[in-house]
Amino acid sequence: MSEDLIQSYSTKDLSIATICSHTALQIFHGARQEGFKTIGICRPERKELYEAFPYGSPDEFLLVDDFSEILQSEIQDRLIDAGAIMVPHGSFVEYVGPSRILEDLRVPTFGNKMSLNWEGNRHQELKWLSDAKLRLPNKFEPHEIDRLCIVKFHGAKGGRGFLLVSSEEEYHQLLEKSLKEGKISRLDADTAVIQEYAIGVRCYVHYFYSSILNRLELLSMDQRLESNIDELHRMGSTRQELAKLGVDPSYVVMGNIPMVLRESLLPEVLALGERTIESSQKLFSPGLTGPFCLEMICTPELEFIVFEISARIVAGTNLFPLGSPYSCYLWGEAMSTGRRIAWEMKEAQRTERLGEIIS
Ligand code: ATP
Repeated sequence: MSEDLIQSYSTKDLSIATICSHTALQIFHGARQEGFKTIGICRPERKELYEAFPYGSPDEFLLVDDFSEILQSEIQDRLIDAGAIMVPHGSFVEYVGPSRILEDLRVPTFGNKMSLNWEGNRHQELKWLSDAKLRLPNKFEPHEIDRLCIVKFHGAKGGRGFLLVSSEEEYHQLLEKSLKEGKISRLDADTAVIQEYAIGVRCYVHYFYSSILNRLELLSMDQRLESNIDELHRMGSTRQELAKLGVDPSYVVMGNIPMVLRESLLPEVLALGERTIESSQKLFSPGLTGPFCLEMICTPELEFIVFEISARIVAGTNLFPLGSPYSCYLWGEAMSTGRRIAWEMKEAQRTERLGEIIS
């Protein structure tokens, strides 16, 4: 981003903008708490939803038929004139794409856009998490499968179509079935990742790395509710019995529930976050700044196996618009991740360090 743009933003009244989806209610709510004007990039049919929640609604709607329109020159100029800083969230990254955000989005964006690219590329993500010395699920080639494994497809958005297999034979059988039923493409099949199915309790930890305060904050955590896998046990059937009934497991996120960890596990969880930040600073300087989430499984030995990173605000933070059982001890007031982003921007502008937190 140009020095001129940073200069012009340093004295402007800034506003916070995002796409109306995912964590937008929380982002607008938090921005308003910190005194920012807000702009919601919205599809016409979604406007009503945001208007139904006045404290989470943007001050101004910028209506588009397709979210990729935000890359159009006149829309970007309009946002820059309004002193907008974009907050990327999961739907934002999915609709616009990490490489177009990096290359074509001129509007200043909260955080380091490079981290979205590192997260979005499976090889780079693996390099990042390995370099951080996190324990990752073992990876397998089809002929090596000797235990329960999860087969993940890059194109399969949000866990739809993932397979559970425990032998090479089962892998080929289920893969062919998914291809025949059109659930996955040939490209999905060729680029599938086979991972050990980690047995334990899932935990999605929401961190915030502050470049301005030079510290890592543990803001909250959640557990995702994934359909249908989270309720399949109620049928009391084995995997094979379910398959005969035509019931395939899927991991589609439909909501989130709050969680806390036993206190003795917190030092380890903080250390995992610290190492993730240190590694990002080494791999793509200046590294990740702002919110991120490590998705992990805590085994019965109380070890954490990390299976994914999200280098942006995650939807599980929507549980805590009024703060969490962790953010209250850091801030002494109702600090959500959305508000924390706005606070960082305000403080960066006040101390003339905006260039460190936007890209
Ligand atoms: P998203 O982009 O929404 O995070 P995704 O397509 O990247 O989804 P993952 O987050 O990797 O997929 O996995 C989806 C779900 O599958 C997880 O939330 C978890 O329930 C389960 N899962 C993934 N990897 C493993 C694993 N190695 N062991 C056990 N469960 C797993």
